[in-house]
Amino acid sequence: MAKKYSILLLFALFCGLFFTQCEKKKEKKGQSVEESLRTPPAYSADSAFLFVKAQTDFGPRVPNTPAHKQCLEFLKQTLAEYCDTLYCQEFTAKAYDGTELKSCNIIGSFAPEKTKRIVLASHWDSRPFADHDAEEANRQKPIDGANDGASGVGVLLEVARQLSLKSPEVGVDIVFFDAEDYGTPEGVSAPEGEWWGLGSQYWSQKPHIPGYRALYGILLDMVGNANARFRHEGFSELYGRSVINKVWGTAGQLGYGDVFLNATSHPITDDHYYVNTLAGFPMIDIIHQEDYTGTGFPATWHTLNDNIEHIDKNMLAIVGTTLLAVIYDEK
Ligand SMILES: [Zn+2]
Repeated sequence: MAKKYSILLLFALFCGLFFTQCEKKKEKKGQSVEESLRTPPAYSADSAFLFVKAQTDFGPRVPNTPAHKQCLEFLKQTLAEYCDTLYCQEFTAKAYDGTELKSCNIIGSFAPEKTKRIVLASHWDSRPFADHDAEEANRQKPIDGANDGASGVGVLLEVARQLSLKSPEVGVDIVFFDAEDYGTPEGVSAPEGEWWGLGSQYWSQKPHIPGYRALYGILLDMVGNANARFRHEGFSELYGRSVINKVWGTAGQLGYGDVFLNATSHPITDDHYYVNTLAGFPMIDIIHQEDYTGTGFPATWHTLNDNIEHIDKNMLAIVGTTLLAVIYDEK
């Protein structure tokens, strides 16, 4: 044991020396304290991917199912580990067909004392019907929602982990909306109503803190396919043009201009629509839209193919790295 100890000691001394040298090199570069505080931490693609897979491993996260309940516990525990204050907003939502959905929005606050805040959001439930699947026999089956749901949440859990390791200058709230994807299935008639984004409608009217407002918000939806391309979604441009410019500008500087395209695309009634119209502060949507599929969305959208096999960890990292750069740049 004594020998082992001395080798360990030598190793520790070597490491100490090595890191001291590194520190000196850093100082030589002339990075000020302020600059180093605003340097974003490195985003881990592997970690983000594991956070996506952890969700799909539960199976489809459809409200009122055991998988939904189990994933809720996982998300609460994981986010609580990283954030300063966790809020669980339980509510019962009414679906297009009258089904009562036991739902829960999960909110993780970082530096809750700070008044200047940014909110990052994604939906964590998955769709109960693969109503756009090529096989008619599959259209009643629930989907894994690896891209549509889990990808955004996975990206944000890795952002949360990084925020816990190094604090930015602004406060951040990470919101996982429930009951986004229980909207009226294709070809089914339903009473007039807003049947999508039930969790974001609830939160926008009853935020976790009364009167809550953020400087701006960024929503992620379908950010995990290898061929993802993000354009300026219509409502994002209408309500949050300056946020679009900031995020797309940052992505361009990072060399992701071939993923974040400076082009406009049609508006989508996603969770950000309700935040913009009901909560009263701008929220943009980073969402994968496609023209060639005929649905406006990627080929896996609302099909059983929306599974973990179609998730590209490099795409998760492109989105996560862009978010970190935007957050740490805020003063
Ligand atoms: Zn969906």
